[in-house]
Amino acid sequence: MKRGITKREREVTDIDEIRGILDRGKIVHVGMIDGDMPYVVPMNYGYTLEEGKLTLYLHGATTGRKLDVIRVNPKVFIEIDTDIVPFKGEAACQYGVSYASVMGEGIAELVEDVEGKMDSLNKLMITQTGRSFEFVPKMVTGVTVIKIHISEFTAKKRPVRNGAELG
Ligand SMILES: Cc1cc2nc3c(=O)[nH]c(=O)nc-3n(C[C@H](O)[C@H](O)[C@H](O)COP(=O)(O)OP(=O)(O)OC[C@H]3O[C@@H](n4cnc5c(N)ncnc54)[C@H](O)[C@@H]3O)c2cc1C
Repeated sequence: MKRGITKREREVTDIDEIRGILDRGKIVHVGMIDGDMPYVVPMNYGYTLEEGKLTLYLHGATTGRKLDVIRVNPKVFIEIDTDIVPFKGEAACQYGVSYASVMGEGIAELVEDVEGKMDSLNKLMITQTGRSFEFVPKMVTGVTVIKIHISEFTAKKRPVRNGAELG
């Protein structure tokens, strides 16, 4: 269920600004529910954000814990962050870190068809490298592709204080 950001002044709602965070983030932390315990895995991703709908595209090996978990319970929570800059102050409590981040919840789907896998992997490469790649069917046979349909997401940023960057 969507819950508003507590520090509303840090919420990011501009769609181009959100795209910028997703372009720069590169790594998504995917939270899953493994029985009665959480399980979180960092992964590279591609994304599309069309008409306010966010979808992530991930790839990995054909076996492993995250796949076992998703097959039983496809509900996930994702977190992506970027623009991490530590800053300093006079007192300990004035130190901090600037950031920009996106969080959301959704449903993970294992993409089985070859066309869908090639398309997803190209989206991943566009986000990761800024360019498009050609895929042929044999390149995707040994790879698992996960598509995450995000139903709700929020974005937030904490800017660095002017001149306070560490180092
Ligand atoms: C920056 C970054 C980017 C990554 N990008 C991708 C990606 O795009 N695709 C991809 O498939 N994987 C990626 N990985 C690796 C990923 O985090 C997992 O290790 C991998 O996907 C295997 O997950 P699994 O659940 O199948 O692991 P399994 O090997 O089945 O997990 C078994 C156990 O191993 C331990 N384990 C698993 N992964 C890690 C880990 N990363 N660090 C420490 N312990 C671990 C956990 O205790 C887990 O319970 C990335 C990792 C990092 C740090």
